[in-house]
Amino acid sequence: MRIILLGPPGAGKGTQSERIVARFGIPQLSTGDMLRAAVAGGTPVGREAKAVMEAGGLVSDAIVVGIVADRIEEADARNGFILDGFPRTVEQAKALDAMLERKGLSLSAVVEFKVDEGALVGRIARRAEETAARGQPVRKDDTPEVFRSRLDAYRVQTAPLSAYYAGSGMLRTVDGMKPIEAVTADVAAILEALVEPAAS
Ligand code: AMP
Repeated sequence: MRIILLGPPGAGKGTQSERIVARFGIPQLSTGDMLRAAVAGGTPVGREAKAVMEAGGLVSDAIVVGIVADRIEEADARNGFILDGFPRTVEQAKALDAMLERKGLSLSAVVEFKVDEGALVGRIARRAEETAARGQPVRKDDTPEVFRSRLDAYRVQTAPLSAYYAGSGMLRTVDGMKPIEAVTADVAAILEALVEPAAS
């Protein structure tokens, strides 16, 4: 099963990914996590990405497509994966299509989280508080100002993916404003239908 989770920052993609990993046994490939690791490790990719990430903009398609292409070659991704935070532009989506086609693979579904943007700023503030309360480092881009830039980037560059995937019949939508458990149940129902097509 190869799925994409689509939705603005703070929509709950990361939380739901963890649950899908546990339930379906496929890895979560988060470009945000991979880029943060590259920044922390001071790699050439990390050095190039750092300032853009801290400003809430999007890292270049070339960098991101490269890291995803390498990551999906790894053994744990052989039976499928969840892409969280990628693709984020139509160019990235086209690059992914080409990448999968070269490998003779295809996507199973794109699950879009519909959320009320007004609620997201509050969610992110809470995520930062809870992270700090656990004594963990808070993401530098989880401040209200940077978060607004991330939302702008989403609206302009990523939201068009919804129409892109609707056009290919891949798009499924969940109400991301429901309680976490309810969203999990909705996502699971979509994914179960992919693995067990219509019981007779
Ligand atoms: P995330 O953890 O998905 O919110 O991503 C954090 C930051 O990493 C984003 O604000 C971008 O700067 C960068 N990033 C993550 N994924 C991508 C992507 N697919 N394309 C471009 N930039 C990305």
